[in-house]
Amino acid sequence: MLTLLDHPLAADLLSVLRSKDTEPPEFRQTTERLGYLLIAEALSDMSTVDVEINTPLEMTTGRRLRRPVVAVAVLRAGLGLLESVLTLVPDAAIGFAGVQRNEETAEPIEYYNKFPELSSARVLILEPMLATGGSLSWAIDKVKENGAKDITAVCVVTAPEGLSVIEHNHPDVRIVAAALDRELNPSFYIAPGLGDMGDRLFGTL
Ligand code: URA
Repeated sequence: MLTLLDHPLAADLLSVLRSKDTEPPEFRQTTERLGYLLIAEALSDMSTVDVEINTPLEMTTGRRLRRPVVAVAVLRAGLGLLESVLTLVPDAAIGFAGVQRNEETAEPIEYYNKFPELSSARVLILEPMLATGGSLSWAIDKVKENGAKDITAVCVVTAPEGLSVIEHNHPDVRIVAAALDRELNPSFYIAPGLGDMGDRLFGTL
């Protein structure tokens, strides 16, 4: 299931990311800002437990998150959303899924994985560009093999092709994104998209 952010601030931030004139420092900061909106939406259906709180004036009832949050950053571009998670949920545990795509076939090639305890957590998979769906589908397989049961993918831009792959392979996974773009181009880039997210975050070519 896809949830698209419907907020003028999200549209504003995404437009900064799409511009080819946005340099890496502003690109990173804008990704982090958009990340706050994406992560807030990705946690909007978390259940809470009531807790008694002593305010300076009187006792009241508050609510705390019932279960832990884990974020799994799909390397490299997922790192761009990590600070947003850690600012909003400082005690979130962090995992890493290292996957590179074969530039000719767009098939995922695995090179590194490290996951915290996943079985009791809301697992957020940070994969900013959902293009073919190969990397995200692979990352979801990996976290499921390691016990994850409650998974939300956090994306900046999605393509119809990648969405179909995830909906087919992992119908239980919710996807939160800022945009659903037109298509993949012949080089497997999302169009209109924002280019290569990892390169734009980290200033590589
Ligand atoms: N990865 C990116 O960084 N950009 C795309 O358009 C597709 C995949």
